[in-house]
Amino acid sequence: MESSRPKIKIENLVKIYGKHPEQALKLFRQGGNRDEILQATGHVLGVADVTLSIGEGELFVIMGLSGSGKSTLVRCLNRLIEPTSGHIYIDDEDVARVDLKRLREIRRTKISMVFQRFGLFPHKSVLENTEYGLKMRGMDPDQRRQMALDTLEVVGLRKWANYAPSALSGGMQQRVGLARALATEAPILLMDEAFSALDPLIRRGMQDELIRLQQDLHRTVVFISHDIQEALKIGDRVAIMKDGYLVQVGTPEEIVTNPVDDYIAAFTQDVNRAQVLKTGSIARKTVPFILGKGSVQGALEDMRTHQREQMYVVDRHGSPVGLLTLDNLETAVSEGTDDIKAVMETDFPTVETATSLEEIFHLAQIGVPIAVVGTSGKFKGVIEQADIFASIGRLTQDDLGREPVPAASTGGRVAV
Ligand code: ADP
Ligand code: MG
Repeated sequence: MESSRPKIKIENLVKIYGKHPEQALKLFRQGGNRDEILQATGHVLGVADVTLSIGEGELFVIMGLSGSGKSTLVRCLNRLIEPTSGHIYIDDEDVARVDLKRLREIRRTKISMVFQRFGLFPHKSVLENTEYGLKMRGMDPDQRRQMALDTLEVVGLRKWANYAPSALSGGMQQRVGLARALATEAPILLMDEAFSALDPLIRRGMQDELIRLQQDLHRTVVFISHDIQEALKIGDRVAIMKDGYLVQVGTPEEIVTNPVDDYIAAFTQDVNRAQVLKTGSIARKTVPFILGKGSVQGALEDMRTHQREQMYVVDRHGSPVGLLTLDNLETAVSEGTDDIKAVMETDFPTVETATSLEEIFHLAQIGVPIAVVGTSGKFKGVIEQADIFASIGRLTQDDLGREPVPAASTGGRVAV
């Protein structure tokens, strides 16, 4: 993720296609754009001064229309394309400056690549294709066979090991391509439009599979896509390119909620926001009642003061254990009860911060604020139906007013 240490650092990377890029580079430095450079020098600006950092274990997507420079950028990482200027640090070593011997070593040990058109050898079996990278590394036949079989198992193709690629569907062939790249155990995986040639249904399956694999493998994946839906679905972070320039880098949520310009806004306009937005980013921080640190009377006064209808109760670890409603507290006080545990509702909906809004629609309809918890189970805040509608844009914040809309007051029990 973003916060992990950088695996790849790209600094001021420029690629200009053509025989004598010096003059074009000069023009670029003086502020010339792609068209002007082409006009004046006949050279094509492929990548325009890109700086970005990709964290270890991150699934990083580079997105942009055809011709925006995605392939150029990713191919500079292993120098299938020579950068014109700038630095590419992998584990703090500048790949743009190493000699060819070292470059070959880096390619062999650190980077593997999956291509759009699979790039399988038609006359080799699925197994031979999968072990190809290991063979190139000089691994002995028994060992590499075993590793290849294990990897085919991971992508669900072990029983196809002895078939020719042509016997497999497009989706399966791309899984072989993926297996071949994974088998090398290279920590960096470059995937250039790896799923773009697949049918939509197969493609979605592959996206899910990549997300699933990545949870176990934790490779650093640089995934190229021209499809914003795909980018936002699979990326931990997404970089959007235009005309060789990097326009915005951010988490899918940041890009959808905070587009830096009209171009990005137009791109994300039709995106299903409920799928992209996570509960963690829209949860409203509310002060909970801490078990053992107050009375029923105190809780009631507190809620009246702050005009709250409901308040969550957390235990001493900060985990939600109950929900207090104004009605229940009033009844308890009039009956002289002073046991919070007896007053609070213990059936309440809970979701984790990483859950998408789409997955909690059904819970929001219950009419009780949903407790949002972190991975450790700690209370992070609440979400109500109005919050969801506001953030996916069905209603604007103005429609709802500045004050949070209280959920229908209920003393009823909630089945989740
Ligand atoms: P993308 O992968 O986003 O479609 P590319 O990186 O392939 O974009 O291309 C970026 C720009 O560089 C495009 O304008 C393309 O025409 C140009 N380009 C790519 N390869 C070459 C090349 N070998 N010679 C000249 N121009 C090229
Ligand atoms: Mg491309």
